[in-house]
Amino acid sequence: MSSEPGSTLGEFDLIAKYFAPLAGPEGLGLKDDAALFTPKPGTQLVITADAMTAGVHFLGDEQPDVIAQRLLRVNLSDLSGKGARPCGYLLSLALPGTVDGSWLKAFASGLKADQEQFGIVLFGGDTVSTPGPLVLSITAFGEVSQDAMIRRGGADAGDDLYVTGTIGDAAFGLEVARGGFLELPAKQRAYLECRYRLPQPRLAFGLALAEANIASAAADVSDGLLADAGHVAIASCLDVDVFADRAPISPAAAEIIAGDGRLLQALTGGDDYEIVFAAKPSQRDALSALAEQQSLQVSRIGAFRAIAGAQSEVRLLGADGAPMNIDRLGYSHR
Ligand code: ADP
Ligand code: MG
Repeated sequence: MSSEPGSTLGEFDLIAKYFAPLAGPEGLGLKDDAALFTPKPGTQLVITADAMTAGVHFLGDEQPDVIAQRLLRVNLSDLSGKGARPCGYLLSLALPGTVDGSWLKAFASGLKADQEQFGIVLFGGDTVSTPGPLVLSITAFGEVSQDAMIRRGGADAGDDLYVTGTIGDAAFGLEVARGGFLELPAKQRAYLECRYRLPQPRLAFGLALAEANIASAAADVSDGLLADAGHVAIASCLDVDVFADRAPISPAAAEIIAGDGRLLQALTGGDDYEIVFAAKPSQRDALSALAEQQSLQVSRIGAFRAIAGAQSEVRLLGADGAPMNIDRLGYSHR
């Protein structure tokens, strides 16, 4: 790195002060050129990356600790959808001159809180300065038992379609964060906004799916429920039916949907960070038991069918069984 990022600290001071305290033994104190990680025998590494640009992927008004947690959780959500146990991450920062020591301190405190919550450590990263906006990137590493990773492409015709949690909260929560839905009670606005700002990756559930070999295919819901169900369908060379009236909607989101019919926005809005997955009908009892054990809402919302046309199709079926018009399946995060 040539010029100093943001603060009066040089790169090495910045790493030593803010990031070395977060590093696990694999990071070698962040004093070497690379991290050294030894996977447990019989395990495979699942690796995923997600980047965020200020003003594009976050609003820019967030507290630095919340930005850090959201960045980390978005990555952990990808691991959850693969049934992986997270172990650590690399952090790459492109820092504009406006980022100072107090920002970095708060950012690191958010990372620390989530490292403790999710049982992970920092492996290392890279730091550069930029004349453009703040760009943050994490590469997360997770472990699965040999061949246990749940892929997108494993569903069969006749499999059920499920999703965890509730859908649409984050899409509405983003509007709340931008000053919308003032007519809602403050408690519901706070709930929706929190669901947008601080997603809750379903790691324990994903891990249980993989360990018990319950799911035939899975993905996390980042682009929108219909889009991500569609990703599973495409990778599995199937069509998928989603039953609109089975979609799990929180009381706060239900109030919005009842008011102005925004069900489609909930199903396509994205940023839910739930797990959408396929499982054989023979797994229904096992899934009910798992949901109860984890106190997690798990909803059976559709089914996979043999492909009918030239390409995979997502059909949203109304209560009467008739397909509903959908102009787009989800959101493209670019
Ligand atoms: P190089 O010069 O080879 O790019 P650096 O000097 O940038 O390496 O990095 C030195 C050490 O600091 C490495 O262990 C690297 O992983 C770590 N590091 C650099 N930036 C960050 C960061 N933003 N977060 C965590 N670790 C970092
Ligand atoms: Mg080096």
